[in-house]
Amino acid sequence: SRTAGQQDSRTAGQQDSRTAGQQDSRTAGQQDSRTAGRHISIFGLGYVGAVCAGCLSVRGHRVIGVDVSAAKVDLINRGKSPIVEPGLEELLREGLCAGRLRGTVDAVDAVADSEISFICVGTPSKKNGSLSVDYIESVCNEIGSALRNKAGYHTVVVRSTVLPGTVKNIVIPILEKSSGKRAGTDFGVAVNPEFLREGKAINDYDHPAITVIGELDQRSGDLLQALYEELDAHHIVRKSIEVAEMIKYTCNVWHAAKVTFANEIGNISKALGVDGREVMDVVCKDSRLNLSPYYMRPGFAFGGSCLPKDVRALNYRASSLDVPVPLIGSLMRSNEAQVRHALDIIANYEKRKVGLFGLSFKAGTDDLRESPLVELAEMLIGKGYALSIYDRNVEYARVFGANKEYIESKIPHVSSLLDNDFDRVVAHSEVIIIGNGDERFRKLVDAPPPGKHVVDLVGFMPHVSGDGCEGICW
Ligand code: NAD
Repeated sequence: SRTAGQQDSRTAGQQDSRTAGQQDSRTAGQQDSRTAGRHISIFGLGYVGAVCAGCLSVRGHRVIGVDVSAAKVDLINRGKSPIVEPGLEELLREGLCAGRLRGTVDAVDAVADSEISFICVGTPSKKNGSLSVDYIESVCNEIGSALRNKAGYHTVVVRSTVLPGTVKNIVIPILEKSSGKRAGTDFGVAVNPEFLREGKAINDYDHPAITVIGELDQRSGDLLQALYEELDAHHIVRKSIEVAEMIKYTCNVWHAAKVTFANEIGNISKALGVDGREVMDVVCKDSRLNLSPYYMRPGFAFGGSCLPKDVRALNYRASSLDVPVPLIGSLMRSNEAQVRHALDIIANYEKRKVGLFGLSFKAGTDDLRESPLVELAEMLIGKGYALSIYDRNVEYARVFGANKEYIESKIPHVSSLLDNDFDRVVAHSEVIIIGNGDERFRKLVDAPPPGKHVVDLVGFMPHVSGDGCEGICW
């Protein structure tokens, strides 16, 4: 059965909204009547909390900054910034002078005097690399205890970076236990990760690329959306709590991957007498394939006549130049692991009759060179599965095409399992694997044949695994 979050993500596209800011991009100080004068408490006056406090108070909201550090609270109350960030002290002073900003160490006072609490406490690494949620736990205990005696609806928003599951398994249980109330009915919960860059935080706050709202209850989501609609035009996306938590990690790990990739390309380039900056400048100009959503969807392994060959060749050259490339060097291993992952999914069903729909790595081609589906087929054959394969293009090529020679000489053991009768392959199979994006395979996912398991390696499934279908990574 699917969770609420999974349903959320299917409808999220409908909820993605261009904000009112498209018609009316308001500047700081000019408030939207729907959101003006919101009463907000911010727990944690470090980098994230202090920037939020400054930006929200200058936009007309009443902000109470809370910290366990009396020194930071004192700074706020004197119009000083607890952190170094260009322009922030001016905003904090403006908020203070307008009577819209104050600091306190008293959580009960802050919750009683606000309708939303933003949690901005630190979530540092432990020695073993795991995430410490100690500060999250104690701040939730404080907010929850304060909610116990507060009448009226209150929304708790986690801005700190927390791993998926933290809000469901830690934040909500602690808030419910310490307040004696129920999340989603008596009080609201949302996640709103923050994407500001240090040094450019205020500009980033005013002109966000995206705002991500993960909501337990619609009321909290609506409240946050209204709060951010006053900013410059941007996408406000509303998702489940877990999806929002994961988005934040995905962004940061992606940034780290980009830096590391560019560094490795730079190091190989230098060893080859090439200026890697020049290379990357041009690479970044291609917004169709290079910096784009292309190649950015989870799914099956890459393949084809170019990618594996070229990754291997550059790796070989790097190692012969003694240039360490741990990231680029891991790509083929990760790709092979994805093929084994598909095999494991199939093996888990403990069935022997398997139908593979698609053998070429892409729909609409008969190119089988380095198709990861051929590799998967070989693994299945090797393990004794009764495999039947349907691929219209390859079937044609086997008889007429330019790849006839390749098929006959390199993979006769695989091509002999091709069957040109779609329905016969379905009838044969206990497990059906959708291998490439041939549109005719979609119906097998939309209405899985009764009693058969369908494994989707392509992404046809509109939902995550369930209802007779399993996705490779969804
Ligand atoms: P920080 O360590 O600078 O500040 C955290 C503050 O929380 C400290 O002042 C601390 O005294 C206070 N605090 C701890 N326990 C408290 C409690 N019970 N009540 C009130 N205050 C309490 O942290 P930060 O850099 O602002 O980061 C906060 C969170 O935001 C982290 O999860 C971080 O990963 C995330 N984040 C940070 C950035 C960034 O650029 N710094 C950007 C995006 C997300």
